[in-house]
Amino acid sequence: MVRFNSIMKAFGDQVVLNELDLEVGSGEKVALIGPSGSGKTTILRMLMTLERPDAGTIYVDGDPLWHMERNGTTVPADERHLRQMRTKIGMVFQQFNLFPHMTVLRNIAEAPIRVLGIPRAEAEERARHLLDQVGLAGKADYRPSQLSGGQQQRVAIARAIAMRPKVMLFDEVTSALDPELVAEVHAVLRDLATETGMTMLLVTHEMNFARDIADRVLMFDQGRIIESGPPERIFTHPENDRTKSFLRAVL
Ligand code: ATP
Repeated sequence: MVRFNSIMKAFGDQVVLNELDLEVGSGEKVALIGPSGSGKTTILRMLMTLERPDAGTIYVDGDPLWHMERNGTTVPADERHLRQMRTKIGMVFQQFNLFPHMTVLRNIAEAPIRVLGIPRAEAEERARHLLDQVGLAGKADYRPSQLSGGQQQRVAIARAIAMRPKVMLFDEVTSALDPELVAEVHAVLRDLATETGMTMLLVTHEMNFARDIADRVLMFDQGRIIESGPPERIFTHPENDRTKSFLRAVL
């Protein structure tokens, strides 16, 4: 579903991704872990076309999102393909970025209406269903400011899913939340992971969450994947010394 081939990325002198190869299968849930600054968020931002690779190719659902030209520069797909491909990918960030002047229901229904052309009644019905799914059935007419951080993040998740993406990207979705609100967001994501066939890439610093949700864990260090495997193995029998010391520090 997602494939990175020999991706290079530097910011100035700092090499952030170094010949990165990565393949995520359809429906697979993959957690990206590793020290701060190891390039995890940059990977998600490239999939959102918010960041340009210096070299290499990225495929989504079989089509090149970024590809290398003959002269060696990496360029995005043409505008028409890009628009189409962007609808296949949804992202939830640390900050919820809900529209403050809209109700919760409109926050979820508006993009499907405007971007996907879904009739309002149908989009709103689906938005209500999604609100139910994230445990917020009674909050359709609230404004974001009337909700807790955990509830707002659950609305943001529902909003992303309303676009029916094939791939969902989650970037430290609970790190801006008070600890007691983290569990409710994790529970929603766990349900989503088990109930939907959506492909998921999750950047997280919460190892228990990664262990619960992921089929595969990728350990990053200095722009490379230094170890990968099922969570049971990575967390109980890490092989790489860097993984061992990282897990000792965070577990
Ligand atoms: P964290 O866990 O702290 O979010 P990360 O593994 O997600 O870290 P990235 O956010 O991908 O790391 O950043 C990798 C490195 O690239 C960091 O050192 C960061 O400071 C740098 N970086 C990221 N974006 C930019 C930018 N737009 N300009 C300059 N440097 C950047």
